[in-house]
Amino acid sequence: MTQLPAGQWRVAIIGGGIAGALSALALSKIPRIAATTIFDRDGAFGRGLAYSAKAAWHRLNVPAYKMGGIGAEDTEGFADWLAETGQANWPDYSASFVPRRVYGDYIAAQLSDTVTSGRVTTQTDAVIDVAKWAPGYELTLASGHRQSFDLVFLCLGNPSPSPFPGIEPSPRSITDVWAPGALDPIAMNERVLVIGTGATAVDVVIDLHRRGLQQPITMISRRGLLPLVDAPAEIDPAPVEHWPQATARGIFAALRDDTRRKMEAGVPWQTSIDTFRLQIAGLWTEAPQIERERFSRHLRAIWLVHRHRLAPDVAQLLEQLQSAGLLHVLAGRISTTDRTSAGYDIAIRQRGGDTMQMSTDWILNCTGPEERYDRIANPLVGSMLASGMARRGNQGLGLDVDDNCQLRDTSGSVQHGLYAIGHATRGAFWEVTAATNIRRQILAIADQLNVAADC
Ligand SMILES: Cc1cc2nc3c(=O)[nH]c(=O)nc-3n(C[C@H](O)[C@H](O)[C@H](O)COP(=O)(O)OP(=O)(O)OC[C@H]3O[C@@H](n4cnc5c(N)ncnc54)[C@H](O)[C@@H]3O)c2cc1C
Repeated sequence: MTQLPAGQWRVAIIGGGIAGALSALALSKIPRIAATTIFDRDGAFGRGLAYSAKAAWHRLNVPAYKMGGIGAEDTEGFADWLAETGQANWPDYSASFVPRRVYGDYIAAQLSDTVTSGRVTTQTDAVIDVAKWAPGYELTLASGHRQSFDLVFLCLGNPSPSPFPGIEPSPRSITDVWAPGALDPIAMNERVLVIGTGATAVDVVIDLHRRGLQQPITMISRRGLLPLVDAPAEIDPAPVEHWPQATARGIFAALRDDTRRKMEAGVPWQTSIDTFRLQIAGLWTEAPQIERERFSRHLRAIWLVHRHRLAPDVAQLLEQLQSAGLLHVLAGRISTTDRTSAGYDIAIRQRGGDTMQMSTDWILNCTGPEERYDRIANPLVGSMLASGMARRGNQGLGLDVDDNCQLRDTSGSVQHGLYAIGHATRGAFWEVTAATNIRRQILAIADQLNVAADC
């Protein structure tokens, strides 16, 4: 049982994206919590980075019914809300991958009701430090104010990517494609190299295509694998109950065999993968360190293309672009880059050995968020690592947390009542960024707090 202060609790949530909003909604139901304040530096309450996207082609990468709802029982809350608000009349499966902003509308609406009820308040400010302040914690805000709380939730989201190694920074290389207006300077007759072939890279390619880019786009990653296409699920298949070998390869072999058997019975492989995803945190926690490292080195890329999938119409559009010569996907590594007056000259060592040269006007880094928290630019994380309030997570990923998502300080002691949600817990649980994973983390903590409140 966690050791928490006596009496009523005041809660601070740092970060107002969906992790912060879902935390506030779950915590507002716990009678012992007297007040909850959400701090967000951008004021993006209930939306955060992913669900503030404005364009209709910024779509969810899962169908609406898989986004879930708010509470444990409410497994199809978002889909139900779409139906209630008259937005669920999609004609085909592809259309059920609704624009991300619509999910943001849903979460923001739920949060707004709770804010109106007075149980939760929001404050637009950055938190730049968290320190111990018995019996809880003291927050320092960028505005200079200090406030103390009994429980603190770090819901900081996905950090911006670090600059791609070996590429000399210039106005022609864009490190953070999600920064507001990041793609705006690209002229429609310019050449673009996208580094990365995952979900962010695909989003950017679609975005540039919709804006009317006339030049072919080149995407590159070590294996050149695009995400695979999604398929509708009729049922959720039973999870694998027994993993014969506790090695990364053993688990993947068992998953492959189980998926093949289910496919013979008519279950699409995609649904087996989704069922498996919910088991990953447990498998990762139990896995020996060497197996986690083997997974990260050898299986991660294969896993990602199965796990992050494309709406059928998006996959079709990518195929069309490739057939029309408007999209090239390369497998290889960038070996050298030289800045030119227009952009960059690049040498690429292709998988298989040949080297090719290309010139581009723009390089876009779509390799995903920085996972090593000693490299990220968030001043709060920097100060917590420097003061010893936090330490880096397993393999340097995120921050170190216990099984209940409570941070460990530099000596490894658990900081009771100081939680991290989502991306920051990747080192401990690995599969942590989808809305469903975030919600599971929050509901487990809320259950624990309910039990602690009754003691
Ligand atoms: C482009 C994209 C598409 C995605 N699509 C899907 C999808 O279809 N389905 C799905 O399930 N998942 C998807 N995801 C996964 C996604 O990461 C999560 O669903 C979700 O966005 C994470 O929410 P969050 O609240 O943890 O982070 P964020 O949305 O990043 O919010 C964190 C917030 O914290 C604030 N903040 C950070 N530091 C501080 C500080 N020190 N002080 C104050 N405020 C601070 C930030 O300003 C930000 O508003 C997608 C992610 C991305 C990036």
